[in-house]
Formats: sequence, structure tokens, C-alpha cells
Amino acid sequence: MPYEQLRPDNFVTDTEETSEDTPSRWQTFVFWLVNDARYLERTRFRPPRSLDLWRLIPFLAIHLGCFAVIWVGFSWFAVALALLLYLGRMFLITAFYHRFFAHRAFESSRSFRLLVAILGCTAGQRGPIWWASHHRQHHLHSDTELDPHSPQTDTFWFSHVLWFLTRDAFPIRWKQVKDLKKCRELVVLERLDWVPLMALGLLCFFIGEWVQSSYPSLETSGWQTLVWGFFISTTALYHATYTINSLAHRYGRRRFDTPDHSRNNFLLALLTLGEGWHNNHHRYPGAARQGFYWWEVDLSYMGLRVLKTFGLVWNLRPVPSKILEAGRARR
Ligand SMILES: [Zn+2]
Ligand SMILES: [Zn+2]
Repeated sequence: MPYEQLRPDNFVTDTEETSEDTPSRWQTFVFWLVNDARYLERTRFRPPRSLDLWRLIPFLAIHLGCFAVIWVGFSWFAVALALLLYLGRMFLITAFYHRFFAHRAFESSRSFRLLVAILGCTAGQRGPIWWASHHRQHHLHSDTELDPHSPQTDTFWFSHVLWFLTRDAFPIRWKQVKDLKKCRELVVLERLDWVPLMALGLLCFFIGEWVQSSYPSLETSGWQTLVWGFFISTTALYHATYTINSLAHRYGRRRFDTPDHSRNNFLLALLTLGEGWHNNHHRYPGAARQGFYWWEVDLSYMGLRVLKTFGLVWNLRPVPSKILEAGRARR
């Protein structure tokens, strides 16, 4: 496959688009690996919302890896690593993939943007452009047939996990991310989103090996930190993130009468570092904070304020006072 054919310009914007020749199996594998929509060519006769079983393999593998805990056992060090990686990556998803890349709720430098984009890929949720493109589609068409993941128009499981395993969700929706398409380094990262994830797996293993030889009293091992820090932590991170698409459009309170079914849910807000204030967020998606009042705990917003004091992010967009007052009155 000549490199020119893998240029970002060759990404197709529409799953209906087809080429004259059906790619070979080898080409299809390369397209699959680098998230090129031409990967779908061989299955173009299937309905857009049919499940793509090949995409299911890495996703299932991460889940199955959790069962290895039976053999590797438990240590406080491994659990602490899993928790740390859960919290750190949840912050990258909520503060950066969601509030920064999808909603542009604050500003940052080009180099810091690339750094958080690479680190964000370790969450195993594809690159920031793919993530933002589907999320913007969600906000434009929330809880209608055009929403990629609504528990109102489809089943709970579709909105929770199945939606991104469909053919329809494989390509980036370029129409929604014309601004991000201009960032060449991010477009390249979209093809290599799996590299930081793999690197995290290796890092987890080598941390455990190093601790085992240097601090044997911590009673851990490379295999144990791999299972806890990578497989268990990533699986927990997956399902906590997905609850915002599934549960937060079904269970909780509606402070604002938005045209969708979004809900505010305290438990989900704790689990996702602030994303559970989802009805607030649908009322005003452009704000850097989703907990609108002091009693609505939004740890991602607190984290962003810390980063702001270090000058790494700036211009955190506030919630207009009119909306805050209206919300107070509704309470
Ligand atoms: Zn939503
Ligand atoms: Zn959003």
C-alpha cells in the first residue's frame, strides 16, 4: 500500500461512498488498523447499523483480560495503579475529549493539545476527532433517529456499547469536525490511536516487573499490574464513560426542559468526574463546567481550574448567569 493512498485526504466522509475495486483482505486489514473508512468496502452490502464483528475482537479481548485476575491475584499496589489510571484517563476523556475537543469550552496551546490527545488515546476510545465527531452528532440530534446512541430510539445496550461497534460508527463524521480536520497532527493521530493504548499495556507490565525486583515487599508482578492497571482499569473506564450515553439519558432529574431526555445524576457525576450533570450540559454544552452550582460536584472542572493556574489552559467558558438563575428558580 503506497503511503500516498493512506493520506488523511483519502478518508471518506460517508459510509455510502464506495470505490470501483473491492480492497483485498490484506488492504482491508491495513484500513482496519489505521481507521480508514475504506475498511467497510467489503461489507458495504450490510445495513449501516449492523454489528461489525472484527471491531468486536479488541473490545472483547480487553474484557476477557480481566478474568486473568484469577491467576495473578491481588496487591494494593496493583489496585492503586488501576485506580490512578482510571481517574487520570477519565479526566482526559471528560476534560479534553469532551469539553475541549468536542465543545471547545476552553483554549490551550497546540503542543499541550497534542499531548492530551496522545494521552487520551490510552483510554481506548479512538482518537479525539472520531470521538468529537460522533459526540457533536449526538448534540445536534439528541434522542432522535439521527442520534448515534440514544436509549430512547434504540435499546439500552445499543446506546451503551453496541452503537460504536456498528459499521455506521466506524468512520469519522467529518462534516461535524471541520475545525479539527485542520489540525494535521491530530488527523495523523486518528490513524495511530491504538499505539498509545498498546504502550500503556506495556508500561503497566514493566512497572510491575520493576516494582517486583526493586520493592519485593509490595508483592506485585508485571502480569498482575498488567491485569489491574490495563485490563480491569480500562474495562471500568469504558463502562463508566458509556453510562453517560445510556443511563444519563434515562435516569435522574431534569432541571432544564431541554428538547432531549438528558438527566442530572449525582452518582454518575461522581463516577465520571462531573459528566453526570448531563441535563445541565445539554442546556449549555459550551461551558467548561457541567456542575452548575457549588453543590454539584464536578471534579473535571476543578482539575481544569488547577491546570489554568499553571497556564496550561485558559478562557474557560462560563455558564451564562441567565441560565444559572433559571436553573435556581426551577430547583
Ligand atoms: Zn447526551
Ligand atoms: Zn457534550
